Amino acid sequence: MPEAIPGIHHVTAIATDPQTNYDFYTEVLGLRFVKKTVNFDDPGTYHFYFGDGAGRPGSIMTFFPWPGARRGRQGTGQATVTAFSVPAGSLGYWTERLESKRIDAKLVGRRLEEEVLSLRDPDGLRLELVAHDDASTLPAWTDGPVQAEATIRGVHGVTLMLEGYQATASLLSDTMGFRLTREEGNRFRFAVGGVGPGLLLDLLFSPDSAPGIGGAGTVHHVAFRARSTEDQLAWREILVSAGMNVTPVLDRNYFKSIYFREPGGVLFEIATDPPGFTTDESVEELGTNLKLPPWLEQRRGQIEMALPELIVTR
Ligand code: ZN
Repeated sequence: MPEAIPGIHHVTAIATDPQTNYDFYTEVLGLRFVKKTVNFDDPGTYHFYFGDGAGRPGSIMTFFPWPGARRGRQGTGQATVTAFSVPAGSLGYWTERLESKRIDAKLVGRRLEEEVLSLRDPDGLRLELVAHDDASTLPAWTDGPVQAEATIRGVHGVTLMLEGYQATASLLSDTMGFRLTREEGNRFRFAVGGVGPGLLLDLLFSPDSAPGIGGAGTVHHVAFRARSTEDQLAWREILVSAGMNVTPVLDRNYFKSIYFREPGGVLFEIATDPPGFTTDESVEELGTNLKLPPWLEQRRGQIEMALPELIVTR
């Protein structure tokens, strides 16, 4: 048996303009630019990783910025909201900060005993800053532009909007080791045990909503952690036995990945913690160079010419 899933590894979404995406996640939200690489399936375009100071699993939000990408539509069968943890009492600071940068943010108020601030990124992707007591113990990136006491402490959780509830809930609790911990209205909160970021998955049962359409401003997939390649292979067997169509193991350079679509239609990934983002750059250097996997290195010149310019300010 593999070790229980320690939580979310990363969330990947689709953006349009690379510079706008970079500026928002670093200069506004204050995440660290952890890795500048390319989409391995489309190396003429970027793949950006943002996260905490060390690029730890659970802190990572990644983007495929495709200039001119068609805008998607949020709806059922998608991860519709990505929530980040922030320390209790910091939402006043965040409200002012976002207002000063002319970003629309709305205090949702208390939900499941947490304070929630809702906002959208420049491509319309829905985000939340969730203030809660445990957040201040989690790692952050403190060399960014955000006041140290208010910095983002990793992914808090993700909300899946679903047309049906039962099949996804069963997969989470009977197969993947999540527990239903709370419910409020049509929201059902599942959690894995342990401490750290990314422990929560909310199912929002919304049978009357339209199906989502992938594209800019939508989440592409949600990745969960496996601590080792052995655990990942064991999860693959378990998921196949549970009737999922799971891909073979794919090498993403910073982790190994398997993918499957949960019964509600959301693309899930299981990504290994090792080797991590320091496999090709030191912690100090994270995000400063264009990094390519070994199999693309020989095409570096051509790839660099094809990529849009990116001004990295931090
Ligand atoms: Zn991924």
